[in-house]
Amino acid sequence: MLEFDFIDDITIPSLPSGMWEGSLPWPVTPGMEAEFQRFYDCVVQGNRRANLTRILEPMDFWEKHLWDSLRGVLPFLCDEMPLSAKPRVVDIGTGGGFPGIPLAIARPDWSLTLLDSTQKKVRFLQGAIAHLGLSQVQAIAGRAETLGALRPYRGSYDLAVLRAVAAPSLCLNYARPWLKPGGWAVLYRGQWRDEEQAELEQGLQGFESVRVDSFVTPQTQATRHSVILRRRASGEDEG
Ligand code: SAM
Repeated sequence: MLEFDFIDDITIPSLPSGMWEGSLPWPVTPGMEAEFQRFYDCVVQGNRRANLTRILEPMDFWEKHLWDSLRGVLPFLCDEMPLSAKPRVVDIGTGGGFPGIPLAIARPDWSLTLLDSTQKKVRFLQGAIAHLGLSQVQAIAGRAETLGALRPYRGSYDLAVLRAVAAPSLCLNYARPWLKPGGWAVLYRGQWRDEEQAELEQGLQGFESVRVDSFVTPQTQATRHSVILRRRASGEDEG
């Protein structure tokens, strides 16, 4: 038996149903909901062998992992953060697959790389990706600052997402080498204090800060922020 082998016919609680309607400016189809449930089943089973998440209660998982992963980036796609067709996206410090796997389920047209420095989490993700049949997703182990400097990763991504990984300017250091000129970075944050904004501005070095979006989660009304940045193309004015 593989370290992470998932089975479908064991009793795992159901995620709440009927929650998506109207909660996001993005349609979540019944097919996606079924995939989210299968991913939840993987996380519950995988958590027995790897320390993936403490958020496992179905409503919490729905809000803090699934809804949050989609809300952090999808609303900005059409106008503010236009991406090419079939963009390459990297989720740096993905942990148990957040926000990367929910995004992969919602956006099968994206090609996703899930990166984490913890081998065991990556082995879990590789098993879950195979179990879910997510052929456009790969999970790799390594440190962002090391792998990002190497082919085939260096300078080849349209979007980097980072949720709860490090201080803002360190997140930018992680994302910088992976992105194409003109590529985007979205930092998923809880609170966003003035000190963090100041720290971010000190560490932009080739990024322009585009927008900080503040929103509340639909169940527990917790405050969240998406910090959206764009990597300047060489020769672009820093002003
Ligand atoms: N993004 C996930 C989430 O929101 O649930 C996981 C967040 S967890 C607090 C931070 C993750 O980042 C850990 O799994 C850790 O192994 C990973 N990490 C931290 N520094 C990293 C680096 N330099 N390169 C790759 N992964 C890193």
